[in-house]
Amino acid sequence: MIGKKLLEETLDLAHSYLEGLPRRHVGALEPVEKLRSRLRKSLPETGTDPAAVIRELARDVDGGLVASAGPRYFGFVTGGSLPAAMAADWLSSAWDQNAVLSIASPAAGVVEEAVSDWVLDLLDLPRESSVGFVTGCQMANFTGLAAARHEVLKKAGWDVEAFGLFGAPPVTVVAGEEAHATLFVALRMLGLGADRVVRVATDGQGRMDPAALEKALSAAEGPLIVCLQAGNVNTGAFDPCSRLIPPAREKGAWIHVDGAFGLWGRLLPELAGETAGIEGADSWATDAHKWLNVPYDSGIAVVRNEAAHRASMVLAAPYYIAAPDEIRDPSQWVPESSRRARGFPLYAAIRSLGREGLSEMVRRHCRQARLMADLLNEDPRIGIENDVVLNQVLVRFSPEGGKGDVDAYNRKITSLVQKEGTCWAGGSAWKGRAAMRISVSGWPTSDEDIRVSAAAIRRVLADTPE
Ligand SMILES: *Cc1c(COP(=O)(O)O)cnc(C)c1O
Repeated sequence: MIGKKLLEETLDLAHSYLEGLPRRHVGALEPVEKLRSRLRKSLPETGTDPAAVIRELARDVDGGLVASAGPRYFGFVTGGSLPAAMAADWLSSAWDQNAVLSIASPAAGVVEEAVSDWVLDLLDLPRESSVGFVTGCQMANFTGLAAARHEVLKKAGWDVEAFGLFGAPPVTVVAGEEAHATLFVALRMLGLGADRVVRVATDGQGRMDPAALEKALSAAEGPLIVCLQAGNVNTGAFDPCSRLIPPAREKGAWIHVDGAFGLWGRLLPELAGETAGIEGADSWATDAHKWLNVPYDSGIAVVRNEAAHRASMVLAAPYYIAAPDEIRDPSQWVPESSRRARGFPLYAAIRSLGREGLSEMVRRHCRQARLMADLLNEDPRIGIENDVVLNQVLVRFSPEGGKGDVDAYNRKITSLVQKEGTCWAGGSAWKGRAAMRISVSGWPTSDEDIRVSAAAIRRVLADTPE
């Protein structure tokens, strides 16, 4: 039995952390060496009381924690954990279900069925699609592209699951110049290669150029996969799917959309100009731990062609006996076998906010990104590099007089903003120029947090003339 006392002590630790989040220095405070000196102990030969382990763990890691679950963390498109989602995540650990086959946990299987339907409805994707719950968008890209690889080679008379890529007809993969780094990792792991991808030019916001795609398509022969993007990590911009998908479709391509956070823009009718046409693709990858504010690890792969999805992921073993009443078997849609029941926190997140609450959160973040851009823009030394169409703001600082190494100055200001600790934003580069990237994605962020953070950034800038 796991005693109540341990759980209560853990609750106290969690509560005091969460309660202190809004006041915490947002970045980690302690030097890595100090963390190592406390944590890298020699392997314990004997055991320690669980309560003591937990108490000391919480104490020893504290200085190395980043307040990314808090209201003023703007790095890397990072969401926090919605209250219901975090609570359900705790229960997922207590229940410790193996969401491999429904027979191992009918509850986990049925909850994934429910969440599948909800996700297709929320994102307005073809309702016949199958859905896999993976660890993040990199694996969602992997899953969508594995289904793509299966299908385009099957059409060319090749069984890639049986024979691999040795002797297979070459597959042409097309992606934008601004495709996300994880897309190439997925392609690499699938044997499709990162460097042989045909790259298509993008515009000033990172959107794929339709004329350039047409050109790439006309040169392509044989099995073809076209990768599009909904939500550029720097600018938030969307590839114009309604103009890109029809010509790719005509060419017989499988069309995959990486929409790690941008896909959630489908919740807002006012963003239809950006998100229209996305539903015409064949597979979609998104994250739940970013904009949906579900704890790690949580990504979602959606594939229109259920048979291709299943064929690329299916797992067979004599003891893998499917549930008798045909509950969906979770592992048949993902690269993993035994796995965490990550449907529970997703279920809780979606139920607790509903379509309205989720839309309101996404809308608020887009508005807050514009507010941040406006407040920063009041300072003549700050320029906003992107059209703020979503939740991303790209900031470029100019030193007084505009002289010297401006890129180095931007890196310096970004690092000083992180050290100051009111908020945290990461460095980036856009079109070869250093910039600071602000992503508004955390559920607890208020307008006041935006004001306080903008003021802190401007203060750092004022104190650092060059
Ligand atoms: C974050 C991101 C990914 C990777 O997602 P992970 O959850 O880190 O695996 C892929 N594509 C885009 C556009 C992203 O923003």
